[in-house]
Amino acid sequence: MAVRLVVTYEVGFMHFDILTLFPGLFAGVFEESILKRAREAGLVTIALHNIRDYATGRHRVTDDAPYGGGGGMIMKPEPLFAAVEAVLGEQLGSVPVILLTPKGRLFTQRVARELSRQRRLLLICGRYEGVDERVHRYLATDEISIGDYVLAGGEIPAMVVVEAVTRLIPGVLGDPGATFEDSHAEGLLEYPHYTRPPVFRGHAVPEVLLSGHHAQIVRWRRQQALRRTWEQRPDLLSSARLTDEDWAYLRQLQAEQESQAGGNCNTLGHETEATDLPTL
Ligand code: SAM
Repeated sequence: MAVRLVVTYEVGFMHFDILTLFPGLFAGVFEESILKRAREAGLVTIALHNIRDYATGRHRVTDDAPYGGGGGMIMKPEPLFAAVEAVLGEQLGSVPVILLTPKGRLFTQRVARELSRQRRLLLICGRYEGVDERVHRYLATDEISIGDYVLAGGEIPAMVVVEAVTRLIPGVLGDPGATFEDSHAEGLLEYPHYTRPPVFRGHAVPEVLLSGHHAQIVRWRRQQALRRTWEQRPDLLSSARLTDEDWAYLRQLQAEQESQAGGNCNTLGHETEATDLPTL
């Protein structure tokens, strides 16, 4: 009797609402590549809402001077509260309202994965000197920063969040396992990738990758991920999920480094940021 193997993949869905003063900024990013495909496949929907549409008065003013003086303009609370309430309607209170701000919690792969479990997210893009504090306190349910630097507006941070979260929605990427090996997915940087040709300008692809030996390839990739993380981002090691074998390999790397002349050179022969291993 013939046995038919049916493989089914779970697919997800996410709706993003983005509140911005500059909806035109999003055109290229949402209309190409992965986000375009995810939208066309019905896995993601994105609605851009112009905050100015929710401002009142003849001039639809959305910003004003700061109380207490100082430079720059502050985004007024009324249009933002009105926009969020109108957009979410009865779902107000059950959908995360995320304010993009350099004062927020740091956006990491872990946060992206956490957000990818939602069905709907609302993102508020600030501009100018920032947003009235009452928006931070009484409207936003979450505050996210994409890094310790200051951009001119929350639009690029919103694009970053939408793209990082969308990649994690089941069905968006062709290979459903791909995101589990990405850098940061397991707290490590990803191993190096190679494709054809096998030798390029004298630089050969590591032999093990051509060997067809699956177990050795898995081991090599794991060690490369450990080595790269140890060299470039040793701070990640203390919270990564590591096995005894991983630690043994890291100790071996450290021993190699210590045996190098000058002490601060790694085995690849260039300056490294790698430091002492974090203690277990
Ligand atoms: N004065 C504000 C401060 O020091 O916190 C910065 C205002 S910034 C010029 C204008 C807007 O850009 C912010 O309201 C925020 O929406 C966005 N923004 C800038 N840098 C960001 C970052 N690293 N992460 C998330 N949003 C950011």
